[in-house]
Amino acid sequence: MPGSPVVVRAERLNTGYVLREKGKPDPTPARAEMRTASRFYQFKSGHALTGVYLNSTDNRPDDDCWWCNPENNSGTHQTRDHLFNYCYKWKDQQAAMWARVKEATKKEKQKWRVGDLLADERCSPAVLDCLGSTHVGRTAPPVEENWDSEGEAEEAGAEEAADEVEEQAE
Ligand SMILES: [Zn+2]
Repeated sequence: MPGSPVVVRAERLNTGYVLREKGKPDPTPARAEMRTASRFYQFKSGHALTGVYLNSTDNRPDDDCWWCNPENNSGTHQTRDHLFNYCYKWKDQQAAMWARVKEATKKEKQKWRVGDLLADERCSPAVLDCLGSTHVGRTAPPVEENWDSEGEAEEAGAEEAADEVEEQAE
């Protein structure tokens, strides 16, 4: 039909979603760097390399977040929700993402569920930049054969300490 509108106006939808004509892919990840885009799609499908997913596929002994301090946060499940909302390691990147999401959608962080965030194209640019500037959903730290290895934990701790020194030097 010539002249028929293709894009549904966002402000007229109570749900807050922008609907796209069937079959048209979200243009933002399609234009993004491939490695970042593939992480984005993995998060959307629930197959991102999170603690919970790796634990469910028997690739990790537990689903704890490997960035959160094990002494203060032991048993912090590394879910998508944790990584986009709560993970201490990425709080600056989360704040930047949520500020953009709010600007684009007029909807507060507290009102979002992660599944909806990842499904809403208006949020894609902010989510992709967040993924690009963090290690969220990239490869997990190695797990040794015997999953209780203390050497592993010590090494990870030393790395964290080095990061902190660098941050303070800036
Ligand atoms: Zn964490």
